[in-house]
Amino acid sequence: MSSELKSPQCWIRPEIQALTAYHVPDPGDSIKLDAMENPYSWPEALVDEWLEVLRDVELNRYPDPGARALTARLRETMQVPDGAQIVLGNGSDELIQMLALAVAQPDRVILSPEPAFVMYRMIAEVAGMCYEGVPLADDFSLDLEAMLHAIDLHQPALVFLAYPNNPTGTLFDSAAIETIIERAPGLVVLDEAYAPFTDASFMPRLDVFPNLLVLRTVSKMGLAGLRLGLLAGAPQWLGEIDKTRLPYNINVLTQASALFALEHKAMLDEQAGLIRSERTRMIQALSSLDGVEAYPSEANFVLFRVREGTADAVFNALREQGVLIKNLNPAAGRLTGCLRVTVGTPDENMQFLTALRNAISPN
Ligand SMILES: *Cc1c(COP(=O)(O)O)cnc(C)c1O
Repeated sequence: MSSELKSPQCWIRPEIQALTAYHVPDPGDSIKLDAMENPYSWPEALVDEWLEVLRDVELNRYPDPGARALTARLRETMQVPDGAQIVLGNGSDELIQMLALAVAQPDRVILSPEPAFVMYRMIAEVAGMCYEGVPLADDFSLDLEAMLHAIDLHQPALVFLAYPNNPTGTLFDSAAIETIIERAPGLVVLDEAYAPFTDASFMPRLDVFPNLLVLRTVSKMGLAGLRLGLLAGAPQWLGEIDKTRLPYNINVLTQASALFALEHKAMLDEQAGLIRSERTRMIQALSSLDGVEAYPSEANFVLFRVREGTADAVFNALREQGVLIKNLNPAAGRLTGCLRVTVGTPDENMQFLTALRNAISPN
């Protein structure tokens, strides 16, 4: 029947129909500690200076397809080794998608430890690939034996390691990562979205491992609204991956704004420093609460576990008090009972902690 023929059920691929769309809750006017955003705004004078820069942007012209000025600035800011090439993406999410599109074949595997950044699975499925998640150890460290076994078994085209990991905040052991890179038959992508909040990075080691790529973003350092990420690695790989990029994927406003913001990198670094010291305070405060277990974090968020069976109620009680964090309890498995809070300003963090105290011991 023609009505059946013209239906989504007939044409949309089954794996797309099976997906649940990535849901982002409306924060309303609550304190927003759910999405790893930098909580600090810019001084007014700097905003004026930025708006002056935008005045000269020509919206009628296509952007520089190679984003040359921005690329040069990013190479310097992110200390990309001379021998490496970079490709820019509309957020690092787009680069994950480009990587998948470049290697996708129906029987090919994307592999990652779990729990991991949800986009690895989602993009694998959209690209028509298989996704394999390898459980982390109980303390959220890498289970190296299990990873090596899964690599031998599945021969993944891509291995994603978030370094530090989202949603756990864990910084995986670098020796274990090296073993994984050496064992993997395909590419290993170190996703360093949280680089501003840790001293660790594989960027300087790009020259050492021919199958290593490093993914970075400006989102977590304070420019999430711009949508800009970069992938760095050997030119032989990057030249191929770049072919999957849509021309002009970095728009003129992003190019001009990112270039401007990175001229003021010292301010962003200072903000990251504040977030790092608040993180320490936050972990201490959380750990001191009865029935709360906070995990170590090298990122701008803290994962914590509450008393069995109370996570949803605690999350809702926080919402009612005007604080939005991330409830990971529905993800189940090792995240059962877990919530994730982004480190905000000292004031926001205090309000969160007060709300949490109320939520876990209502009287
Ligand atoms: C936030 C995040 C990203 C996405 O970054 P965008 O550049 O904003 O797309 C990628 N990887 C990890 C691990 C993240 O937590």
